[in-house]
Amino acid sequence: MTKMVLNANLIKKYHQDLVFNYSEYPTKDHWNFKFQDDEYKKAILDWFPKNKDKKIFFYVHIPFCEELCWFCTCSKFINKDYAKVTDYLNYLYKEIDLLFEYLNKNDIKLNVGTVFFGGGSPTILNREDLKSLVDKLKSLFDWSKVENFTIESDPRRVDEDRLIYNHEVCGANRISFGMQDLDPEVQRRVNRIQPAKLFENILTPNVRKFYKEIAFDLLIGQPGQTIETMSKTCDEMIKLKPTLVQLSLMAYKPWVAKYQVQMLAEGPLPDFLERKELLNIIHKKLIAGGYIRTGFECYSLPDSPMTKAFNEGEAHYGASGHQTGGRVNFIAVGSSSMSNLGNDYYVQNFYDIPSYKKAIDNNLLPSFRGLKLNKDDKIRQHATQQIRSYFKIDYKNFYEQFGINAKKYFKKEIDYMSEMHKDGLVNFMDDGIFLTETGRDFTQNIMNVFDSYDPPEKSYKERLNTVKKAKESQAKVQEEADKLSI
Ligand code: SF4
Repeated sequence: MTKMVLNANLIKKYHQDLVFNYSEYPTKDHWNFKFQDDEYKKAILDWFPKNKDKKIFFYVHIPFCEELCWFCTCSKFINKDYAKVTDYLNYLYKEIDLLFEYLNKNDIKLNVGTVFFGGGSPTILNREDLKSLVDKLKSLFDWSKVENFTIESDPRRVDEDRLIYNHEVCGANRISFGMQDLDPEVQRRVNRIQPAKLFENILTPNVRKFYKEIAFDLLIGQPGQTIETMSKTCDEMIKLKPTLVQLSLMAYKPWVAKYQVQMLAEGPLPDFLERKELLNIIHKKLIAGGYIRTGFECYSLPDSPMTKAFNEGEAHYGASGHQTGGRVNFIAVGSSSMSNLGNDYYVQNFYDIPSYKKAIDNNLLPSFRGLKLNKDDKIRQHATQQIRSYFKIDYKNFYEQFGINAKKYFKKEIDYMSEMHKDGLVNFMDDGIFLTETGRDFTQNIMNVFDSYDPPEKSYKERLNTVKKAKESQAKVQEEADKLSI
């Protein structure tokens, strides 16, 4: 039996209709909706004094885009009216002020090592507004300690000059592009036209010398993607030489984003087997092109910061994908943005702009849900992180972090995985559990074994009920978003 046929059988066997990404654990469906301004402030007071020197990842969300990509499930508003961006910025500044007033009042200084502007499209900000926002942050924490500053950039809205400005005037040293796919037909069918030539024009030697990381996101599961088109996309992408390629599987959720149905106009989306074939060809091409797999859906060049972080055990997976810098403590501002204080707390801001603005008008931090993790949550969160970032559960590491004998602690999970072991997905060794090369393709299924809220043995119906509420609330949020879009 060939490897692909064998994998196809395994894929069928382990396929689940509902899979979780585990960028957070416990997943958001289990967070507490009463965790708002008060609870967030208590969490700040509890966490910071115990974690004074911990590095902070400061995330700023700019939720506007000028055009809609039909696959998108990000939190964004389609908008061509800059007055709305200005209005949002006023609220964002006020949120930042509310946060820093509270921190200063309690003598808490943020040790920010990374700044990340995400969206939406942060490149919707004009030059002056981008600079003002950076200057605002510079006035609030010690910018000289910021090692990484990423601006997610829409390649259709920037040119060489703007990227140089973003570095020279604003200090950005990492760019993240939603490359998604380079095939013209795929791009047409998702309403996002950005040919390879566009990237070639903006990624000039001058730009490259200012940015230590140039990351491309590649989205799998788009209409029209086949092994042939993906193979060509990979060839073109390798020529463009991003230092980092992050893959993600397209989430088809028309109940959240009705416009996604437009992608089906000329035929169905790749099914789960076809997606696996796409992942397979991407893997082969990138490895042959000199990239190293440095995470479940992450590939980087040997001399890139991500490869170094992966080799040194300093990589981490979270809401912003795979990141360098080990355990990431996020302080996030802007609508829908999500903070996490170590492995102790999660906090998320309102998605919809009216609620976000209303909270700020009332001088409240605009969070609407969150969670204080218990010890078991932390251990299991660490397990999902380790599997996703390093493809293993290293028992010694769990002893050092939590003082537990992981082999005993996870006895039930290890017993459950005996079938996966027989199928060649995991190896059990004296010092830990290791995913095999084949097992890496089943990372999400293996992480799921460690999920005590939605374990694999839970029925499909039960799992569906768990996420139903979240879907309904997301749909409401989208309705509000649609009303605001132009
Ligand atoms: S640019 Fe990004 S955030 Fe905006 S619609 Fe497209 S995918 Fe979504």
